[in-house]
Amino acid sequence: MGVMTKAEYIESLRKLNPTVYMFGQKIDNVVDNPRLRAGIEATGATYELAELDDYKDLVIRQSELINEPINRFNGPPMSIEDLVARVKINRLLGKRVGTCHQRCTGMDCMCALAIVTYDVDQKYGTEYHKRYIEFLKYMQRNDFTANAGVTDVKGDRALSPRDQPDPDVYLRVVEEREDGIVVRGAKAHQTGSLSSHEIIVLPTRALKPDETDFAVAFAVPTDSPGIIHVVGRSTLDMRELEGCDRGNQRYSKYCPTVIFDNVFVPWERVFLYGETEFAVDLVVKFSAFHRQSHGGCKAGKIDCMVGAALTMMEYNGTQKAGHLKQKVIDMIHRAETLYGCSLASSYEGAEQPSGVFFIDTVLANASKIHEGKEMAEAIRLMIDISGGFVADLPSDRDLDNDEVGPLLKKYLVGASGIDAEKRIKMYRLIEKLALESADTVSDIHGGGSPEAHRITIFRESDIKSKKEAAKNLAGIRD
Ligand SMILES: Cc1cc2nc3c(=O)[nH]c(=O)nc-3n(C[C@H](O)[C@H](O)[C@H](O)COP(=O)(O)OP(=O)(O)OC[C@H]3O[C@@H](n4cnc5c(N)ncnc54)[C@H](O)[C@@H]3O)c2cc1C
Repeated sequence: MGVMTKAEYIESLRKLNPTVYMFGQKIDNVVDNPRLRAGIEATGATYELAELDDYKDLVIRQSELINEPINRFNGPPMSIEDLVARVKINRLLGKRVGTCHQRCTGMDCMCALAIVTYDVDQKYGTEYHKRYIEFLKYMQRNDFTANAGVTDVKGDRALSPRDQPDPDVYLRVVEEREDGIVVRGAKAHQTGSLSSHEIIVLPTRALKPDETDFAVAFAVPTDSPGIIHVVGRSTLDMRELEGCDRGNQRYSKYCPTVIFDNVFVPWERVFLYGETEFAVDLVVKFSAFHRQSHGGCKAGKIDCMVGAALTMMEYNGTQKAGHLKQKVIDMIHRAETLYGCSLASSYEGAEQPSGVFFIDTVLANASKIHEGKEMAEAIRLMIDISGGFVADLPSDRDLDNDEVGPLLKKYLVGASGIDAEKRIKMYRLIEKLALESADTVSDIHGGGSPEAHRITIFRESDIKSKKEAAKNLAGIRD
C-alpha cells in the first residue's frame, strides 16, 4: 500500500485492541473517545498532508526498500534533501495543528535504529540490522505510525539501573526464551501511544558493562498482551471530553504512561540485546534527531501563535500599537532562529556507514536549548499582546445561557465591527496554545532536559580547534 489516507489511518486504529485506562476508567473505544480522538486527529494530519496536492511532493518519497511511494515519516533520511524535508514537514504540521502532531517520535527512533543496528552488527556479527530492515519494510508497506518508548520512569535519579531498589524502574529483559524475550518496566510521557500501531523501545541512558538486561531495543504492537496505557492528565483535557471551551477545535495532545507487564517480544523484533556500549549511541542519535524535529514543529507552532496574536490585535483595536508590533516581530524572529538552526543541522548532516544520513548534533541541540527558553518567551509575548482574558474567559455555556449570555456578549466586545464571538474563540485558542501542559512542557523536557542538550553541545563541539584559534591569535605556542 505505501501511503494511507487519513480516513484509512483512523480505520486502521480501530483494528487494534489496546488496554487503556483514563481518569480511573477502562477505555474500550479509543478512536471515538473525544480526548484521544483529538490526539489521533493531530497524527491524522501527517496522513492528510500526503493527500493534498500542495504538499504531497514534499511528504511522499520513493522507498529504496520496497520500491513504492512512502510517507516520509517512515523513511529514514538517505540524503541531505531528506534531512531538510524532515524540518519543513514538521514546520508545516506545527502550523497546521497548533500542537504536537505526535508522529515524529517514532520516526526518530527508526532513524536512530537505522544507523546503530548496522554499527552493532559490524562489531559483533549480529543480525539486528537485517531484522530492523524487515520491520521498516513492514512499517512502510502499511504506512503505520510508531511512538517512542525511550524515557524510563527511572526511580532514584542518583542510582544506575542495576542499583535501584526495584530494577523494574528501568525497562529490562526478565526472561529469555527460545522464540524471544520477555520485558518488564514502564515508559513515561508516551506521546501519542494510542495514535500509534507500534511502540519502539530504546534504552534511556548510557549503561554499565554489567547492565546487559537493560540494553534492549525492540518494537511491538501497541496492543500487545501485557502493555497498559494509562493516559495522563493535561491542563485542558476535560474540555475535549465535555466538548466545550476547547480552543483548538480539532487537535490536541496526550501522553500516557505505558506499563510493560511481562511483554513477550519475538526475536525478529529485537534490535539490541546486551551490547551495553551501544545504548548510549541509540540515545544520542534518537535525541539528536528528535531535537531537530522540535526545531521544525515548534517554529510552526509559533507561526500559529503569531497569527493568533495579530488577529487578537485586530479584534482588540490595538493593531496600530507600535510596541505590540515589536513584540510580534520578537515572536517571529524566535521561530526563524529555531527553524534556521534545525535546517542548518540538516545541511551539515553526513552519511553514516549504514548509508543513512545523520544531522549535525551541535546545531540540533543548540536549536533545542533555544526552544526551551524561547518558546516560553514567545508564549509570554502572545499573552502580553492578547490581554487578560487568556486566563479567565467565561465558558461557552455561560455565553449560551439565556440569562447571562446576552450580557456577556454585550460586555465582551472588542473593536467596533468585530463580532464578539470571533474574539472569544480566538481567546480560547490562545489559552490552548499557551497553557496546554502536554505540549508546552515538552518545549523544555521533550527530547531530554536542557542539561542533556548542554552536555551534548560541549561533548560534540570541536573544543580543541577553538582553543587553538585563540592561542594562535594570542601568539601562544604549546
Ligand atoms: C510533554 C512531554 C512529551 C514527551 N514525550 C516523550 C515520548 O514520546 N517518548 C519518550 O520516551 N519520552 C518522552 N518525553 C520524556 C522526556 O524525554 C523526559 O521528560 C526528559 O528526558 C526528562 O526526564 P524526566 O521527565 O524523567 O525528568 P528527570 O530526568 O527527573 O529530570 C528532572 C531534572 O533533574 C535533572 N536530573 C535528572 N537526573 C539527574 C542526575 N542523575 N544528575 C543531575 N541532574 C539530574 C535533569 O537535568 C532535569 O533538570 C516527553 C516529555 C514530556 C514532558
